[in-house]
Amino acid sequence: MNYRHAYHAGNFADVVKHVVLTRLLEYLKQKDKAFRVIDTHAGIGRYDLSSTEAQKTGEWQGGIGRLVGANLDAKAATLLAPYLEAVRALNPDGGPDGGLKKYPGSPLIARHLLRKQDRLTAIELHPDDANRLKAVFASDFQARVIELDGWLALGAHLPPKEKRGLVLIDPPFEEAGEFDRLVDGLVKAHKRWPGGIYALWYPIKDRKAVIAFRKALKQTGIPKLLDIEFEIRPASSEPSLDGSGMLVVNPPFTLEGELRLLLPTLHRLLVVGRPADWSLRWLAGEAG
Ligand code: SAM
Repeated sequence: MNYRHAYHAGNFADVVKHVVLTRLLEYLKQKDKAFRVIDTHAGIGRYDLSSTEAQKTGEWQGGIGRLVGANLDAKAATLLAPYLEAVRALNPDGGPDGGLKKYPGSPLIARHLLRKQDRLTAIELHPDDANRLKAVFASDFQARVIELDGWLALGAHLPPKEKRGLVLIDPPFEEAGEFDRLVDGLVKAHKRWPGGIYALWYPIKDRKAVIAFRKALKQTGIPKLLDIEFEIRPASSEPSLDGSGMLVVNPPFTLEGELRLLLPTLHRLLVVGRPADWSLRWLAGEAG
């Protein structure tokens, strides 16, 4: 387990992933009934953008750094507000044009959007990271941090007692076979809790692996699969993160329309080289 998210926190892929996360949570909040968020690969929750790791890559400057203070049309601004507010909540002294010092990871963003009836279960396998996250949520009765293998959590913690909510699966992709684990994990989880919303993050680096992943997803027979593809540059000759994807299972009916409004704006702000594009497609269900 060598992966350290501190090098990448706030990069373009985090931005897209966390914006999708906030739109899913905003939908869940439309009903009073309590929901649960299960974050199977949670990380440390709070990232210092002046750390040696963040400074070394500077990735956040090509991500959240391009959003803060950007000109947004009214509709995009409204849809991005929950995300940007979660970022600002961690940067109370930051000016509107930036001045970011910290970036919130998925558990902090989710926690920021919970109401008093909602709960967060954050799973993290790395002992140091799990301890840091435990410290972030110390004495917070709405958030529980568990040091555990996230893939096991998909069996042990589903369905949650609220029977409403979202599972974010955001593995590090540092070992071979992660795409297969993602498909297997989803199938197992979906059997235990077919009604849950699932959001799976994946890298667009090895295009053949992505095509095989999508094919395997279609073959699962899971009925509602919306796939988001977000490329920031054309395929590199050396393996590099040229884009990222998110697969949403059981997406709220609002999500596709919201993303069709948001993704062009995010793409305009985050693209690095062309041709590179975004796309939204149903692998199963709706149009599929
Ligand atoms: N979801 C976080 C966010 O958006 O802020 C980032 C997570 S990062 C991409 C992946 C995390 O998974 C790392 O913190 C890593 O230590 C952790 N990890 C690696 N293998 C794991 C496993 N089998 N179960 C749970 N966590 C794992």
